[in-house]
Amino acid sequence: MSGERRAGRDLLFCGVMAQLLDGVRVRDEIKAELDGRIGALQNHFRTPGLAVVLVGENPASAIYVRNKVKTCQELGIHSETLAPPASICTEELLALVDGLNRREEIDGILVQMPLPPQVDAKRVLDAILPDKDVDGFHPVSVGNLSIGNPGPRACTPAGVIELLKRYKIPIQGTDAVVVGRSDIVGKPMAMMLIHESATVTVCHSKTRDLEGVCARADILIAAMGRPAFLDDRHVKPGAVVIDVGMNRVTDQAEAKRIWPGDAAKLAQLGAKGSLLVGDVLPTSMASRASFYTPVPGGVGPLTIAMLMVNTVGLAEAHARQVGILLK
Ligand code: NDP
Repeated sequence: MSGERRAGRDLLFCGVMAQLLDGVRVRDEIKAELDGRIGALQNHFRTPGLAVVLVGENPASAIYVRNKVKTCQELGIHSETLAPPASICTEELLALVDGLNRREEIDGILVQMPLPPQVDAKRVLDAILPDKDVDGFHPVSVGNLSIGNPGPRACTPAGVIELLKRYKIPIQGTDAVVVGRSDIVGKPMAMMLIHESATVTVCHSKTRDLEGVCARADILIAAMGRPAFLDDRHVKPGAVVIDVGMNRVTDQAEAKRIWPGDAAKLAQLGAKGSLLVGDVLPTSMASRASFYTPVPGGVGPLTIAMLMVNTVGLAEAHARQVGILLK
């Protein structure tokens, strides 16, 4: 069993009991709970359907899409991948999205980011019908989140909330700090925490005294895309630390800074050529937090699980539109 997978077990570091939050276990729970809903849709309506648009040949995007399609297959969700070439223009991609918008058996449409530079990504995302917006990025979905209406939610922050709730970590009344203000993670994360009655501070690259703000957080959420940037100084002893960051480390010196004295990690780096690390120094989480998410195995698995939740939710909404009421 790898260090990252020792989920659920308490680890004793420097007198602080730090418990790993196991995203893999929670992902499997969420997937298992979808079985009944998917079965009901298949019996009374039809199989839910997800279309994924993968433009060009970005290797990281190809892996993400493969994992999404595989999860659909495991759950019995229909999925299809459309893979136009990297040379596609905005108008062609808009036409492709329009075609998917019109297909009744497609409940959710996902356009994998990033798109090539010649494509106007915002126009493409905005062209997805709000009732097929499986990623929760459409302005209508963002508005629904803001005012607390039902609808698809951005998957990664929704996964973080699931993780906190399933580990029964109180959110109400806590001081929560979100580092990062992107439209896909930081901002929706902050909004979801506000709805859970946390007192929320959002930090970004222009924040003065990042260290001081983070060090006051009961719940610290790192979504900045900077390898092991936050350390002991940013983590209040006993804080809950959620590390959304997924960064590839390829440099030996950088790996030594992040995993000092960890010969196994350095050997892994030598063998694989790169290692995954979050935005928080792993040793800082382990020594100071009460609960923390490992990278990998923390937030990452939940993003796909919540994508499946959104797909099923949209299919249920489509069933209701034609008068089929599911329990
Ligand atoms: P973006 O690059 O869009 O946003 C990064 C944010 O971090 C920005 O708001 C930026 O501030 C802020 N930031 C960067 N540097 C600093 C700094 N030194 N101090 C304070 N704030 C800083 O990234 P994303 O939100 O898309 O992703 C964030 C991370 O989460 C990435 O590592 C990504 O790979 C990962 N991720 C993981 C997912 C998962 O499933 N686990 C899903 C999605 C993302 P500013 O706005 O001022 O530039």
